Amino acid sequence: RGAISFKDVHFAYDPARPILNGISFDVPAGKTVAVVGPSGAGKSTLSRLLYRFYDIQSGSISVDGQDIRNVTQKSLRAVIGMVPQDTVLFNDTVAYNIRYGKPAANDTEVKTAAEIAQIAHFIDMLPEGFDTKVGERGLKLSGGEKQRVAIARTVLKAPPILILDEATSALDTTTEREIQAALDVVSQDRTTLVIAHRLSTVIGADEIIVLKSGEIAERGTHSDLLQKN
Ligand code: ADP
Ligand code: ADP
Repeated sequence: RGAISFKDVHFAYDPARPILNGISFDVPAGKTVAVVGPSGAGKSTLSRLLYRFYDIQSGSISVDGQDIRNVTQKSLRAVIGMVPQDTVLFNDTVAYNIRYGKPAANDTEVKTAAEIAQIAHFIDMLPEGFDTKVGERGLKLSGGEKQRVAIARTVLKAPPILILDEATSALDTTTEREIQAALDVVSQDRTTLVIAHRLSTVIGADEIIVLKSGEIAERGTHSDLLQKN
Protein backbone atom coordinates (compact mmCIF):
# COMPACT_ATOMS: atom_id res chain seq x y z
CA ARG A 1 0.00 0.00 0.00
CA GLY A 2 0.89 3.66 -0.29
CA ALA A 3 2.19 3.83 -3.87
CA ILE A 4 3.09 7.44 -4.65
CA SER A 5 3.14 9.00 -8.08
CA PHE A 6 4.33 12.48 -9.06
CA LYS A 7 3.38 13.28 -12.68
CA ASP A 8 4.79 16.36 -14.41
CA VAL A 9 4.46 18.39 -11.22
CA HIS A 10 4.94 22.14 -11.51
CA PHE A 11 4.98 24.18 -8.37
CA ALA A 12 5.90 27.67 -7.17
CA TYR A 13 5.36 29.30 -3.76
CA ASP A 14 5.53 32.61 -5.60
CA PRO A 15 4.32 32.55 -9.25
CA ALA A 16 7.34 34.62 -10.25
CA ARG A 17 9.75 31.96 -8.96
CA PRO A 18 9.16 28.35 -10.09
CA ILE A 19 10.46 25.75 -7.61
CA LEU A 20 9.55 22.45 -9.32
CA ASN A 21 9.57 22.32 -13.12
CA GLY A 22 7.88 19.14 -14.31
CA ILE A 23 8.83 16.48 -11.79
CA SER A 24 7.77 12.88 -12.52
CA PHE A 25 8.65 9.86 -10.44
CA ASP A 26 6.99 6.95 -8.68
CA VAL A 27 7.55 5.33 -5.34
CA PRO A 28 6.05 1.86 -5.85
CA ALA A 29 4.29 0.36 -2.82
CA GLY A 30 6.82 -0.98 -0.34
CA LYS A 31 9.81 0.49 -2.19
CA THR A 32 12.26 3.21 -1.20
CA VAL A 33 13.03 6.19 -3.40
CA ALA A 34 15.57 8.77 -2.34
CA VAL A 35 15.69 12.36 -3.49
CA VAL A 36 19.10 13.96 -3.17
CA GLY A 37 20.42 17.31 -4.26
CA PRO A 38 21.82 20.60 -3.05
CA SER A 39 20.10 22.76 -0.49
CA GLY A 40 17.29 24.75 -2.06
CA ALA A 41 16.72 22.23 -4.88
CA GLY A 42 13.11 21.67 -3.79
CA LYS A 43 13.45 18.35 -1.94
CA SER A 44 11.46 19.22 1.18
CA THR A 45 8.86 20.92 -0.99
CA LEU A 46 8.03 17.48 -2.42
CA SER A 47 7.05 16.20 1.03
CA ARG A 48 5.00 19.32 1.81
CA LEU A 49 3.12 18.79 -1.44
CA LEU A 50 2.43 15.18 -0.51
CA TYR A 51 0.74 16.42 2.68
CA ARG A 52 -1.23 18.93 0.54
CA PHE A 53 0.17 21.88 2.49
CA TYR A 54 0.21 23.64 -0.90
CA ASP A 55 -1.58 23.07 -4.18
CA ILE A 56 0.45 22.40 -7.28
CA GLN A 57 0.06 24.57 -10.39
CA SER A 58 -0.13 21.67 -12.83
CA GLY A 59 0.47 17.96 -13.08
CA SER A 60 -0.74 15.51 -10.47
CA ILE A 61 0.26 13.73 -7.30
CA SER A 62 -1.48 10.50 -6.43
CA VAL A 63 -1.42 7.99 -3.60
CA ASP A 64 -2.66 4.48 -4.37
CA GLY A 65 -3.87 5.75 -7.71
CA GLN A 66 -6.03 8.47 -6.21
CA ASP A 67 -5.30 12.12 -7.01
CA ILE A 68 -4.56 13.74 -3.64
CA ARG A 69 -6.69 16.75 -4.59
CA ASN A 70 -9.59 14.42 -3.80
CA VAL A 71 -8.15 13.33 -0.44
CA THR A 72 -8.42 15.39 2.75
CA GLN A 73 -5.27 16.56 4.54
CA LYS A 74 -6.45 14.61 7.55
CA SER A 75 -6.58 11.32 5.62
CA LEU A 76 -3.17 12.05 4.14
CA ARG A 77 -1.71 12.62 7.61
CA ALA A 78 -3.20 9.33 8.68
CA VAL A 79 -1.27 7.38 6.03
CA ILE A 80 2.02 9.30 6.22
CA GLY A 81 4.65 9.03 8.94
CA MET A 82 7.48 11.52 9.00
CA VAL A 83 10.87 11.55 10.65
CA PRO A 84 12.28 15.08 10.28
CA GLN A 85 15.88 16.27 10.72
CA ASP A 86 15.37 17.62 14.22
CA THR A 87 12.49 16.03 16.06
CA VAL A 88 10.81 18.58 18.32
CA LEU A 89 9.23 16.80 21.25
CA PHE A 90 6.24 17.84 23.27
CA ASN A 91 7.12 18.96 26.78
CA ASP A 92 5.66 15.74 28.14
CA THR A 93 6.79 12.17 28.82
CA VAL A 94 8.63 10.00 26.33
CA ALA A 95 5.62 7.68 26.38
CA TYR A 96 3.29 10.58 25.56
CA ASN A 97 5.54 11.60 22.70
CA ILE A 98 5.55 8.08 21.30
CA ARG A 99 1.81 7.65 21.79
CA TYR A 100 1.25 10.78 19.68
CA GLY A 101 1.60 8.39 16.73
CA LYS A 102 -1.47 6.43 17.84
CA PRO A 103 -3.38 8.04 20.71
CA ALA A 104 -5.43 4.91 21.37
CA ALA A 105 -2.35 2.71 21.95
CA ASN A 106 -2.04 0.92 25.29
CA ASP A 107 1.11 0.90 27.44
CA THR A 108 2.28 -2.45 26.07
CA GLU A 109 2.10 -1.21 22.48
CA VAL A 110 3.99 1.95 23.43
CA LYS A 111 6.70 -0.10 25.16
CA THR A 112 7.04 -2.49 22.23
CA ALA A 113 7.51 0.44 19.84
CA ALA A 114 10.04 1.93 22.25
CA GLU A 115 11.93 -1.38 22.36
CA ILE A 116 12.09 -1.61 18.58
CA ALA A 117 13.46 1.94 18.46
CA GLN A 118 15.79 1.13 21.38
CA ILE A 119 14.52 3.96 23.54
CA ALA A 120 12.76 1.66 26.01
CA HIS A 121 15.22 2.38 28.82
CA PHE A 122 13.45 5.70 29.27
CA ILE A 123 10.11 4.09 29.88
CA ASP A 124 11.38 0.82 31.31
CA MET A 125 11.99 2.56 34.58
CA LEU A 126 8.32 2.41 35.40
CA PRO A 127 6.64 4.40 36.73
CA GLU A 128 9.26 7.17 36.45
CA GLY A 129 9.67 6.74 32.70
CA PHE A 130 6.00 7.25 32.17
CA ASP A 131 6.02 10.25 34.51
CA THR A 132 9.20 12.12 33.73
CA LYS A 133 8.71 14.88 31.23
CA VAL A 134 11.10 15.78 28.47
CA GLY A 135 12.31 19.36 28.60
CA GLU A 136 14.13 22.07 30.46
CA ARG A 137 13.88 20.61 33.93
CA GLY A 138 13.08 17.06 32.99
CA LEU A 139 14.70 14.42 30.81
CA LYS A 140 17.39 15.69 28.49
CA LEU A 141 17.46 13.65 25.32
CA SER A 142 20.33 13.73 22.85
CA GLY A 143 19.73 14.32 19.14
CA GLY A 144 19.92 10.57 18.50
CA GLU A 145 17.49 9.79 21.31
CA LYS A 146 14.99 12.30 19.93
CA GLN A 147 15.23 10.61 16.55
CA ARG A 148 14.57 7.29 18.30
CA VAL A 149 11.42 8.76 19.84
CA ALA A 150 10.31 9.80 16.34
CA ILE A 151 11.08 6.28 15.11
CA ALA A 152 9.11 4.68 17.96
CA ARG A 153 6.21 7.01 17.15
CA THR A 154 6.34 5.82 13.55
CA VAL A 155 6.54 2.17 14.56
CA LEU A 156 3.41 2.66 16.65
CA LYS A 157 1.56 4.60 13.97
CA ALA A 158 2.62 2.05 11.31
CA PRO A 159 1.71 4.26 8.35
CA PRO A 160 1.90 2.79 4.82
CA ILE A 161 4.02 5.78 3.76
CA LEU A 162 7.16 6.99 5.47
CA ILE A 163 9.02 10.23 4.76
CA LEU A 164 12.55 10.54 6.09
CA ASP A 165 13.48 14.20 5.66
CA GLU A 166 17.21 14.48 6.39
CA ALA A 167 16.46 12.26 9.40
CA THR A 168 20.13 11.64 10.20
CA SER A 169 21.71 14.86 8.90
CA ALA A 170 22.07 16.54 12.27
CA LEU A 171 23.82 13.59 13.94
CA ASP A 172 27.47 12.69 14.42
CA THR A 173 28.80 9.82 12.30
CA THR A 174 28.46 7.07 14.89
CA THR A 175 24.95 8.08 15.93
CA GLU A 176 24.03 8.52 12.28
CA ARG A 177 24.97 4.90 11.60
CA GLU A 178 22.88 3.65 14.53
CA ILE A 179 19.85 5.70 13.60
CA GLN A 180 20.23 4.70 9.96
CA ALA A 181 20.10 1.05 11.01
CA ALA A 182 16.90 1.70 12.99
CA LEU A 183 15.39 3.57 10.04
CA ASP A 184 16.24 0.68 7.70
CA VAL A 185 14.15 -1.59 9.92
CA VAL A 186 11.19 0.81 9.95
CA SER A 187 11.28 1.46 6.21
CA GLN A 188 11.47 -2.23 5.33
CA ASP A 189 8.35 -3.12 3.27
CA ARG A 190 6.99 0.41 3.70
CA THR A 191 6.63 2.92 0.87
CA THR A 192 9.47 5.29 1.73
CA LEU A 193 10.52 8.67 0.40
CA VAL A 194 13.97 9.58 1.65
CA ILE A 195 15.23 13.14 1.39
CA ALA A 196 18.97 13.51 1.79
CA HIS A 197 21.77 15.72 0.64
CA ARG A 198 24.45 13.06 0.32
CA LEU A 199 24.41 10.07 -2.02
CA SER A 200 26.41 8.00 0.49
CA THR A 201 23.48 7.87 2.94
CA VAL A 202 20.99 6.37 0.48
CA ILE A 203 22.93 3.42 -0.94
CA GLY A 204 20.09 0.94 -0.41
CA ALA A 205 17.33 2.94 -2.16
CA ASP A 206 15.54 1.24 -5.06
CA GLU A 207 15.88 4.46 -7.02
CA ILE A 208 17.73 7.71 -6.42
CA ILE A 209 16.51 10.95 -7.96
CA VAL A 210 19.01 13.80 -8.18
CA LEU A 211 17.11 17.07 -7.99
CA LYS A 212 18.77 20.28 -9.15
CA SER A 213 17.01 23.64 -9.39
CA GLY A 214 13.60 21.96 -9.44
CA GLU A 215 14.46 19.49 -12.19
CA ILE A 216 15.51 15.85 -12.20
CA ALA A 217 19.15 16.03 -13.23
CA GLU A 218 19.84 12.29 -12.94
CA ARG A 219 18.17 9.14 -11.72
CA GLY A 220 19.08 5.51 -11.15
CA THR A 221 20.40 3.13 -8.53
CA HIS A 222 23.38 4.08 -6.41
CA SER A 223 25.75 2.11 -8.66
CA ASP A 224 24.21 3.62 -11.84
CA LEU A 225 24.90 7.08 -10.49
CA LEU A 226 28.43 6.25 -9.39
CA GLN A 227 29.23 4.97 -12.89
CA LYS A 228 27.95 8.18 -14.47
CA ASN A 229 29.99 10.42 -12.17
P1 ADP B 1 15.56 21.64 -0.20
O1 ADP B 1 14.72 20.77 0.67
O2 ADP B 1 16.02 20.96 -1.43
O3 ADP B 1 16.67 22.30 0.52
P2 ADP B 1 13.19 23.30 -0.27
O4 ADP B 1 12.16 22.45 -0.90
O5 ADP B 1 13.15 23.48 1.20
O6 ADP B 1 14.63 22.81 -0.74
O7 ADP B 1 13.15 24.75 -0.90
C1 ADP B 1 13.18 24.97 -2.33
C2 ADP B 1 13.13 26.46 -2.59
O8 ADP B 1 11.86 26.95 -2.18
C3 ADP B 1 14.16 27.28 -1.84
O9 ADP B 1 14.65 28.27 -2.71
C4 ADP B 1 13.40 27.89 -0.72
O10 ADP B 1 13.94 29.13 -0.38
C5 ADP B 1 12.01 28.04 -1.30
N1 ADP B 1 10.98 27.95 -0.26
C6 ADP B 1 10.82 26.94 0.62
N2 ADP B 1 9.74 27.14 1.39
C7 ADP B 1 9.18 28.31 0.98
C8 ADP B 1 8.04 29.06 1.38
N3 ADP B 1 7.23 28.63 2.35
N4 ADP B 1 7.79 30.20 0.71
C9 ADP B 1 8.59 30.64 -0.29
N5 ADP B 1 9.68 29.97 -0.72
C10 ADP B 1 9.99 28.82 -0.09
P1 ADP C 1 0.56 14.04 12.29
O1 ADP C 1 -0.74 14.52 12.86
O2 ADP C 1 0.46 13.35 10.97
O3 ADP C 1 1.42 13.27 13.23
P2 ADP C 1 1.51 16.81 12.35
O4 ADP C 1 1.52 17.67 11.13
O5 ADP C 1 0.59 17.13 13.44
O6 ADP C 1 1.37 15.32 11.84
O7 ADP C 1 2.97 16.79 12.90
C1 ADP C 1 3.98 16.18 12.17
C2 ADP C 1 4.97 15.70 13.21
O8 ADP C 1 5.49 16.86 13.88
C3 ADP C 1 4.29 14.84 14.24
O9 ADP C 1 4.45 13.47 14.00
C4 ADP C 1 5.00 15.25 15.47
O10 ADP C 1 6.16 14.46 15.53
C5 ADP C 1 5.52 16.61 15.26
N1 ADP C 1 4.80 17.68 15.96
C6 ADP C 1 3.75 18.38 15.51
N2 ADP C 1 3.41 19.35 16.38
C7 ADP C 1 4.28 19.26 17.39
C8 ADP C 1 4.48 19.99 18.59
N3 ADP C 1 3.69 21.01 18.94
N4 ADP C 1 5.47 19.61 19.41
C9 ADP C 1 6.25 18.59 19.09
N5 ADP C 1 6.14 17.87 17.97
C10 ADP C 1 5.17 18.19 17.13
